[in-house]
Amino acid sequence: MGLADQLMVSPGSRVMLQKMDPSSTPDIKGKPEGERLLSEMQSRLARLQMELWAENRRGLLIVLQGMDTSGKDGTIRAVMSGVSPLGTRVSAFKAPSEQELDHDFLWRIHREIPGKGEIGIFNRSHYEDVLVVRVHDLVPKDQWEARYELINNFERMLAQNGVVIVKFFLHISKAEQKERLLERIKDPVKRWKFALGDLAERKRWDEYMTAYEDALSRCSTREAPWYVIPSDRKWYRNVAVASVLVETLENLKLKVPQPEWDPKTMVIED
Ligand code: AMP
Ligand code: MG
Repeated sequence: MGLADQLMVSPGSRVMLQKMDPSSTPDIKGKPEGERLLSEMQSRLARLQMELWAENRRGLLIVLQGMDTSGKDGTIRAVMSGVSPLGTRVSAFKAPSEQELDHDFLWRIHREIPGKGEIGIFNRSHYEDVLVVRVHDLVPKDQWEARYELINNFERMLAQNGVVIVKFFLHISKAEQKERLLERIKDPVKRWKFALGDLAERKRWDEYMTAYEDALSRCSTREAPWYVIPSDRKWYRNVAVASVLVETLENLKLKVPQPEWDPKTMVIED
């Protein structure tokens, strides 16, 4: 069984995050092996992206979700470091603006969906509308409750239009978050990342875990699977995400268009 199969939430199954150890490292022995493998995956990704771009038939959407400090930014940096910025875009979703709130919750999302040949990376996503929104009662229950099905329908529609969707939940422990928050307070270089609001969110840890379990269980589908990535160890998180992306892109059997002329007889005159 490949790493992707092990980390994927099987469609229809029930996720129990308490039973998934955030410090585990399935399939990879240790940091040296993980780092070696990551650099191999980075080169393979770079090549696959070129093929995706050249084929120009499908797009790749990568969704990153996780609690504060789970490493969404760090993952993007590590995993995408070999990939050309041409045809790659990162979209970060913050609390919606007034204009965004005047529209349906998928309006701002839809505009950022990658086109053919492109890779789009979402740092947070439409899932916030069943996570933070649910935990803080930002809309009535019947409204957020209806969104799981709306999300599945939306993602199915995208998939039918050639968008390949891969969703990652970066799973960290509450203890690891404490360490990382302390580090952000202590280290002057990291201090800008610390937000007082993070402490309020941390107090609602258990409610977030319940909300995540529902989102992962109800919205992992064949066309848009969720992967739970053990993320207490950064090296594992990076190599696991990179490996799932490589497996996904390789399964697409990308076809670079072949020239209509014969390279052997092509002559460039002086
Ligand atoms: P950060 O990722 O640290 O820049 O924080 C972004 C903040 O925006 C987080 O606290 C999210 O919970 C919040 N956010 C993102 N999407 C939504 C949403 N749809 N509704 C409310 N808050 C959101
Ligand atoms: Mg933050």
